[in-house]
Amino acid sequence: MTNKATICVHTPGPRTGAITPIDPSTANKYMGMDDVYYPRYFNTRNQEVIVQKLARLEQAEDGLIFSSGTAAISSALFAFLRHGDHIILSDELYGGTHKLAVEEFEKFGITFDFVAVNDGERLAAAIRPNTKLIYFETPSNPLLSVTDIRRVVAIAKQHGILTMVDNTFATPICQNPIALGVDVVAHSGTKYLGGHSDLSFGALLTSTALKMVIHKHCTNYGGSLNSIDCYLVERSLKTLALRVDRQCANAMRLAEFLVGHPAVQTVYYPGLSSHPGHQVAREQMNGKFGAMLAFELADGARTKQFLQKLSVIEPMVSLGGVESTICQASETSHKKMPREQRLKIGVTDELLRLSVGIEDAGDLIDDLERALE
Ligand SMILES: *Cc1c(COP(=O)(O)O)cnc(C)c1O
Repeated sequence: MTNKATICVHTPGPRTGAITPIDPSTANKYMGMDDVYYPRYFNTRNQEVIVQKLARLEQAEDGLIFSSGTAAISSALFAFLRHGDHIILSDELYGGTHKLAVEEFEKFGITFDFVAVNDGERLAAAIRPNTKLIYFETPSNPLLSVTDIRRVVAIAKQHGILTMVDNTFATPICQNPIALGVDVVAHSGTKYLGGHSDLSFGALLTSTALKMVIHKHCTNYGGSLNSIDCYLVERSLKTLALRVDRQCANAMRLAEFLVGHPAVQTVYYPGLSSHPGHQVAREQMNGKFGAMLAFELADGARTKQFLQKLSVIEPMVSLGGVESTICQASETSHKKMPREQRLKIGVTDELLRLSVGIEDAGDLIDDLERALE
C-alpha cells in the first residue's frame, strides 16, 4: 500500500498538474452527457478529487464532501434515521453534535440515548429493537477518552446496527475506523484536514452502497462545498501527514512535560501510559495518538490567569490548526451542554483543552512553564 504521506501529496485521477484546476461553473452542458455536473449533486471534479484522496487515506471505498463537519454529520444521520428509529450516541461528544441530537431528533420522531459506549455492557443494554445506529468519537472531545472500536463494531454487527465514528480528533493519519469495521467515518475538515484555521468543510467516508443512500438525501439538504474551497482543501491535504506527524510528536512532549509539573493536576492524553485508554489506543491507532490533550491545574482558581500569561499558545475556539490554541471547554465547545451533564462526564469548569500545533516544541514548553510559574 502506498504510504499516507504520498497519498496526501498526489492528486488522484488523470494528471492535471500539481493541483486540480478550479472549475467554478454552476451551469454545465447536459445534452449528450451521462451525468449533469452541479455542485449540489456532489459530483464536480473539484469535489471528487478530494473525496478520492480522503477515501484512500481512510481506507474507504467512497465518500462525500460537505460545507461543514456538521453538514456531513447531520446529512448522514438524517439519511439513515427515520420516524420511529432509535440511535445510541456516545455520552462524550462534540458539543455541536450533542446539540443537534437534543434539538432536532424529537421533532422527526427519532429517539436517542447518550450512553458510555466504551462500556460494552452498558452499550449492549442500551440497544433496542428499533436501534439503527451507534455514533461515537474516539479519542473523544474534550477528555480524549478512548473507545474500543472493534468491540463496539462486534456488538453492533450482532444486532445489524450501523456504526459511525467522528474521526476528527484522530485524523486519518492516526486512525482508520473503516479498517476496523466501522460503516461511516465523519470529519470536521475545519480542523486538521484544513489545518490552517481558515476553511470550513466536512467529509463522510464509507462504502459505495452507503454513500448512495446518503447521496440521495444530501442533495435535498444541500450542504455542498464550492469549487474554490475544494481547491483550498486539496492544497491543504498535501501537508496533512507532515503537519499531523509533527503535531503528534509535539503533543507527546507537551503531555510528558505537563504530567511532570507540580502545578498541573490531571493530564488527559492517550499517548501517556497512565491514560486509561492507552492500551486500546496502541492497538487501534497507527502508533500516533493525535495532537489534542486536556489538563487541569492543581489550583483551578488560577485557570484564567494562566491563560492570560500564555504568549505563544493562544486562547481560541476551534482546534487542529498549525498554531497551538487552548480553551476552557466549559466556555467554548461544551458551553451549550447543561452544567450538570457536563460535570457527570468529567468536563469540569476548569478543564483546559490544548490543540498542539507545529511550532518548535521547546518554545511551547517554555510558554507553558512561564505561565505555570
Ligand atoms: C468541530 C467539530 C465538529 C463540527 O464541525 P464543523 O465543521 O464546525 O461543523 C464535529 N465534530 C468534532 C469532533 C469537532 O471538533
